[in-house]
Amino acid sequence: MTGQRRIIARVLSESEDHPDVEELYRRAVAFDAGVSIATVYRTVRLLEEKGIVARRDFGEGRSRYDPTDRGQHHHLIDVDTGKVIEFEDEAHEALAREIAAKLGFELVDVRLQLFARRPEQKKSK
Ligand SMILES: [Zn+2]
Repeated sequence: MTGQRRIIARVLSESEDHPDVEELYRRAVAFDAGVSIATVYRTVRLLEEKGIVARRDFGEGRSRYDPTDRGQHHHLIDVDTGKVIEFEDEAHEALAREIAAKLGFELVDVRLQLFARRPEQKKSK
């Protein structure tokens, strides 16, 4: 792995959010001004092929990246703010496994994305 790729991989593994390519580029350039957006694209594709990052689509028409070492988790997307919350739910996974088994399959992966909104605060008079 070249120095620039190593920087991009490090920026990604240190991210606590789900950066897209543009955001990764902004963060990587802070370490090495020579990093190009094309290198970021190539590197995330490579890391994805190696299973180091997972590509996510939160319905915005652009890919976001999630290091796989965070383990199996799901996402709730706040449709008003765009904030992404990670969560785990064993009951849901057990149900997904059961559904797959009923259809004659063994569950390999399950990705749950909840698009949600906080209820409006009641206006007090
Ligand atoms: Zn995530």
